[in-house]
Amino acid sequence: MKKHVVIVGGGITGLSAAYALLKRAKRDKLNLTCTVLEKDNRLGGKIRTHRENGFVMEEGPDSILARKPAGVELIRELGIESEIVGSNPKGMKTYILHRGKLESIPPGTNMGVPMQFRPFATTKLLSLPGKARALLDLVIPKSTVESDVALGPFLRRRLGDEVVNNIIEPLLAGIYAGSVDELSLKATFPQFLQLEQEYGSLIRGSLRQRQKVPTLTANHGRSVFITLRSGLQTIVERLHDELHTWADLHINTAVTAIHRTEGGQYRLTATRPNGTFTLTADAVVMTAQAPVAAHLLRPLCPQAETLGHIPYVSTAAVLLGYHQDTLNVSLEGSGFVVPRAEGRGITACTWTSSKWPHTAPSGQALLRCYVGRAGQQEPLQQSDEDMVAMVRAELEDIVGLTSKPWFTRVVRWNAGMPQYLVHHREKVENVQEKLRTLAPGLFLAGAGYHAVGIPDCIADGESAAERALQFVGFEH
Ligand SMILES: Cc1cc2nc3c(=O)[nH]c(=O)nc-3n(C[C@H](O)[C@H](O)[C@H](O)COP(=O)(O)OP(=O)(O)OC[C@H]3O[C@@H](n4cnc5c(N)ncnc54)[C@H](O)[C@@H]3O)c2cc1C
Repeated sequence: MKKHVVIVGGGITGLSAAYALLKRAKRDKLNLTCTVLEKDNRLGGKIRTHRENGFVMEEGPDSILARKPAGVELIRELGIESEIVGSNPKGMKTYILHRGKLESIPPGTNMGVPMQFRPFATTKLLSLPGKARALLDLVIPKSTVESDVALGPFLRRRLGDEVVNNIIEPLLAGIYAGSVDELSLKATFPQFLQLEQEYGSLIRGSLRQRQKVPTLTANHGRSVFITLRSGLQTIVERLHDELHTWADLHINTAVTAIHRTEGGQYRLTATRPNGTFTLTADAVVMTAQAPVAAHLLRPLCPQAETLGHIPYVSTAAVLLGYHQDTLNVSLEGSGFVVPRAEGRGITACTWTSSKWPHTAPSGQALLRCYVGRAGQQEPLQQSDEDMVAMVRAELEDIVGLTSKPWFTRVVRWNAGMPQYLVHHREKVENVQEKLRTLAPGLFLAGAGYHAVGIPDCIADGESAAERALQFVGFEH
């Protein structure tokens, strides 16, 4: 009998899961069908590119970590490798706001961990005692971390407060929009723990690891991050092209309930503008946000309630477009990040068209500022107009940019960033463990649970698809 896998959520995780199912169905001629149910009026979830007047504006993620293979591999499989661009080698410098001034991040740091002596010794981001304290990392004994701890205290013990507050925390805000003293070490940067345990020091470990990093080839050179010339949404569009003749893809369709039938299948209720319908699945891959999963899965598995306690932080992106000849400052480098202590509304700013020249047509410049992070949600209460005014005033203050943008665009991501707090992994694993017995064949995947970055979401979707296939009886 034909097996049916239903995927809840059409973001990158859900689409990657569906694509993995399609590839296996084709390769092994499986009697398999798949349905993707997406609440919004488009596929892609957080991946959203706005293309207008020759600008390529990323409203959500703007790049992919090249070192993690799942992203680049999917791009290759989809036949869009020629679209890959690395960041502009001339715009590599990133700045940190420090006492109101922009200071460049010392070259050769691994998320703030120093790996080159001279730039570290001369940086103005740290005082002399702050630098001396960071070097104690070379002699401080390994911690005995058995259960999870917060990233902040772990890093503060090794490197001191200054490195954490002035360098690591603002860099982290760009990834998780989180608080370094609350995020889980094991769920966010387990590699720090691994470096400490293996080499006895983060500095020593980072130096050794650097020697092992493979050289990237193809047209993105050695760029750490890559994107696509026509925007990351091209991945979503290509996935749609591949999937739509095989899978049932429904947008504007929200799953509102999931029940288990006596025969061990799942009956999903979904609503769309013209009414409600039900469908039956042999396995379900749940990629919607954790609070949605908590609501839908609670009747099947009371422990799923825990997922509802995973906090989400809101952020906004403010895009500003300028005629190059009206710019009164030169946008050298890739942008800057802002430590909390600076007390600004902007958390980071990317000189988008300097970092990624393809994003603006000739003679134009594009900037993107971020607003909002954990514990700093007030600036998001403003109207779009006030937020743009705040961003412009801060840009004037920080870099002296007084030119008037000829367009602005505010994109809000309400509850868009999951926060992996201490014990996040154990909590999710605990729910999965219960699901294995109370709701077998129901799998969690995506940003709410295992993976924030796009490559990790892709890998997680593929892995969930594999488990769903095994569950319905198609062994690898
Ligand atoms: C502003 C921002 C910038 C980012 N920058 C980067 C970056 O530069 N690089 C990077 O690698 N990552 C970045 N990320 C993270 C990355 O974009 C996300 O983690 C990833 O796209 C999440 O994919 P997902 O499919 O797991 O979740 P989502 O994209 O959130 O998809 C989940 C889907 O489930 C749907 N859904 C919810 N409820 C229901 C329901 N009841 N029924 C049906 N569907 C439902 C939602 O509408 C949504 O489309 C960024 C994220 C944000 C918000």
